[in-house]
Amino acid sequence: MDIQHLLSDRTRDIKVSGIRRILELGTQLDDPINLSIGQPDFPVPDTIKQAAIDAIAQDRNGYTLTQGIPELRTRIEAHLAHDLGWSFGKADDPGVMLTSGTSGALLLAFLILMDPGDEIIIPDPYFVMYPQLAAICGGTAVRCDIYPDFRMTAELVAPLITERTKAVLFNSPGNPTGVVATRAECKDLLELCRAKGVLLISDEIYDAFTFSDGLSDTTANTPHGNVCPSPARIDAAAAEDVLVIRGFGKSYGITGWRMGYAAGPKALLAEMAKTQMYTFVCPPSIAQWGCLAAMDADISMHVAEYESRRDLVVRTLSPVASLPVPSGAFYAFVEIPKSLGCTGTEFCERAIERNLLTIPGGVFSDRDTHIRLSFATRRDKLEQGLGILTDMLTGK
Ligand code: PMP
Repeated sequence: MDIQHLLSDRTRDIKVSGIRRILELGTQLDDPINLSIGQPDFPVPDTIKQAAIDAIAQDRNGYTLTQGIPELRTRIEAHLAHDLGWSFGKADDPGVMLTSGTSGALLLAFLILMDPGDEIIIPDPYFVMYPQLAAICGGTAVRCDIYPDFRMTAELVAPLITERTKAVLFNSPGNPTGVVATRAECKDLLELCRAKGVLLISDEIYDAFTFSDGLSDTTANTPHGNVCPSPARIDAAAAEDVLVIRGFGKSYGITGWRMGYAAGPKALLAEMAKTQMYTFVCPPSIAQWGCLAAMDADISMHVAEYESRRDLVVRTLSPVASLPVPSGAFYAFVEIPKSLGCTGTEFCERAIERNLLTIPGGVFSDRDTHIRLSFATRRDKLEQGLGILTDMLTGK
């Protein structure tokens, strides 16, 4: 059978992730120094593991409500009420829905918003999935070029808004740069979206990994001080205009459990729930019970460790290359000096010859001038990797 003939145009347009290519090359290495990984390296807290094990033993293995178990939704609502100042209504009119990963929430948002020909504005560099999701919907991901400081400001976004724009997708702390937006930047972007009548989607998957210099929002009602700025915290009406998407995978080291959530305008959440019912059906039941325990887990020591690794990365690499200070997430986006005369991809291929895995900037961008490294890896390996990078960046 001619399978190629059967394939949809949509599928043909989807490109294999450049990350996979590097990982395939990496499998040929014996014990590589792996700075390509996009997930935490700390152990999953035992309470979370036990809660999922208990859920299996207690026969909580069947379908749940499409929007997720009320116990977890209620806990998240309490958290968002505290963190964002939002208020939530009755349980049968949910202001929060659980999704199959943060990716699940993103896919549902794209599906309910975009018709063929519609546009969504994304940052460039971007998380690899964003342009592909737009393509799946037959729409266009309009790139907002945020080089060289990686700040997606209202000023940069405004000229890109057209009659076909449905949403602006904002990501802070950002992948692949780790840059954290300021409260003023969040406010300006929200005001622009309101004025133009487009939705602001805020992908906050890395919000738990915000370092002391990124925790610059003093307006939140938290006992422990400042928090990561979010457009969803600008004013009480933000709950009507911002779709917040967050996840559990990165925060608690459970990326394989596929758990995320969305909160925001109720009319949107109702449509997302409808689409989830006929696609994912519900997020994984046992993972939902595990995530209920995660709401009480403390990962602050891991975030502190990542901040100290971040300091090491910046201290080591900034004398030899240009990189924005990552105030969050666990990535650094390093520019390849022009004097080396190579692309990000060529640089990563040469690094593989030295047993080091990083990701070319071209995977996340229309430009291929940078590399992304992850510091979610053991400190001794990170130190070795930084040594190799320093040599390479200085032409040794
Ligand atoms: N958004 C961003 C910015 C990400 O970096 C990732 C994962 N790397 C996701 C969403 C998807 O996360 P999940 O595994 O929860 O689907």
